[in-house]
Amino acid sequence: MTAVAKLQSDRVSITYPLKNGDEVTAVKDFEITVKEGEFVCVVGPSGCGKSTMLGAIAGFQDISDGHLYLNGQPIKGAGRDRGVVFQQASLFPWRTALENVIYGLELAGVPKNERRAKGEELLKLVGLEPFANHYPNQLSGGMQQRVNVARALAIEPSLMLLDEPFGALDAQTREFMQLELLRIWKATNQTIVFVTHDIAEAVYLSDHVVVMTARPGTVREKVKIDLPRPRPLEIKRSPEFLEYEKYIWDLIVQEKEKSNL
Ligand code: ADP
Ligand code: MG
Repeated sequence: MTAVAKLQSDRVSITYPLKNGDEVTAVKDFEITVKEGEFVCVVGPSGCGKSTMLGAIAGFQDISDGHLYLNGQPIKGAGRDRGVVFQQASLFPWRTALENVIYGLELAGVPKNERRAKGEELLKLVGLEPFANHYPNQLSGGMQQRVNVARALAIEPSLMLLDEPFGALDAQTREFMQLELLRIWKATNQTIVFVTHDIAEAVYLSDHVVVMTARPGTVREKVKIDLPRPRPLEIKRSPEFLEYEKYIWDLIVQEKEKSNL
């Protein structure tokens, strides 16, 4: 059973100190509300603070100002209620794919047979069942990232945080993973915050797309995606879909022009 995961923020700002005493404000007055069971994507120009914001929700990143709440409680550090998938797969090189997937279950004290069965099920889900006994350096970058996704899913977190998780995958695998992620999301009732620079990916996955401004990143607009679910991949060619894509693309182009980057 997954617990409720409701995310709220109140004017979050995040500043990085620089060596010469200056500061960089990465995120400013950022507001995000994610309801229980909702799928929200965050898009914005490169360097606008998407990863910084996701790191704060994960609890890896201190916030300088404002508040961030998960289920009404202030976020203080990382927790097992959140599963995180980064851009780069960070697997243990000395563990096989299966051993990597079940790492969190080991920590949680799940019995050996049970965690093995769960690990195999998850590897199957990401299409890597035949590679259970391969070490990370025996897998392609894309395959490693799929192990990474399976590993985050293993502990059944109520909130999944993904930072460009499919960026390293080939186009076909990426589409398959998007479809699979929606299926898993439906099955688990998870709440998901997903960062991507791929607007079509954001529209396809989301209930809402949060479009960020250029740095310091704040919310430019929250776009509700009113496409029916389940969403077959072909929906990406529908006029409604393309309209959302263009609308968000135009917002981002305006932000890019403003920042002159
Ligand atoms: P995005 O994920 O949207 O591309 P990031 O969140 O990685 O953007 O970065 C946002 C801004 O914060 C960037 O301008 C970046 O240079 C700055 N930044 C990120 N990490 C650090 C850091 N550790 N120290 C100083 N500045 C940083
Ligand atoms: Mg990033």
